[in-house]
Amino acid sequence: MKEPYEGMSDKELEAMETLEVEVTEKSFTVTNGECPTCNETMEKIIENKSLFDGSLTFHLIKFRCTNCKKEYLDLNQAEKYDLYLILERAARQPLSVLTKNVLKHVVA
Ligand SMILES: [Zn+2]
Repeated sequence: MKEPYEGMSDKELEAMETLEVEVTEKSFTVTNGECPTCNETMEKIIENKSLFDGSLTFHLIKFRCTNCKKEYLDLNQAEKYDLYLILERAARQPLSVLTKNVLKHVVA
């Protein structure tokens, strides 16, 4: 059984760790609807994000602090938001190309 990190140089491992940190920082998550900065109860808001001229809409549940106005993602929504960001980037290529890539990498 081969270890997943075997054969990787220190530099590669370092780069991977950096990436993990970035992903964690990108998703500002909270578990209980309380602001981590001011301990205020936050209001729940739903943000709709559309892709492909509105053909696909993501409903993201967020928390907004009434005091400092910072917004946080519901922990369960973080993965959904990450998917949205990937799709948003993918949507910049022509739809025909995107369809081919999805068929090749996701469905197959
Ligand atoms: Zn706050």
